[in-house]
Amino acid sequence: MTDLRINDLRVDEADTEASNHSSEKENEDWIKTLIYQSQGAKEFSYCPYSKFRVGAALLAHDGTVFTGCNVENASYNLGLCAERTTIAKAVSEGYRRFKTIAIASDLEDQFISPCGGCRQFMQEFGDQWSVSKPDGSYVEMTVGELLPVSFGPEDLKKKTMFTTQNGS
Ligand SMILES: [Zn+2]
Repeated sequence: MTDLRINDLRVDEADTEASNHSSEKENEDWIKTLIYQSQGAKEFSYCPYSKFRVGAALLAHDGTVFTGCNVENASYNLGLCAERTTIAKAVSEGYRRFKTIAIASDLEDQFISPCGGCRQFMQEFGDQWSVSKPDGSYVEMTVGELLPVSFGPEDLKKKTMFTTQNGS
């Protein structure tokens, strides 16, 4: 969990050694900014039932940042996690390519970890983007690491043994 892979965030992979250094610095700055924004998003958390605030900040491929928080409901199973709120916001505004998401909670001694449902939700948009989990410090993992051997859109295109009656 200490394996920081900020290189995944690098836009230009053909950088020279010198500019790699500046790219890594740039990436680190991005992550810190995202962490700050995810902590800000947490302030809007609607969690009267769990009292567990979560915020997220999602960096899209073009540098646009979307933020979101968990939104609970009196009908508990309708509650939304911060990650899904944020991704849905971005997708509903035409974004489908993402670089990273930062997730913040109030946990003091450990990193917040995306739930299984959110890992699947992230996987829909590719497993090469990474997840940061801040509590001031952060670790970074790819969605592929968080959700290995997953099921995604590409699986629906694979050869099947049978077809449905309407042929779709
Ligand atoms: Zn979740």
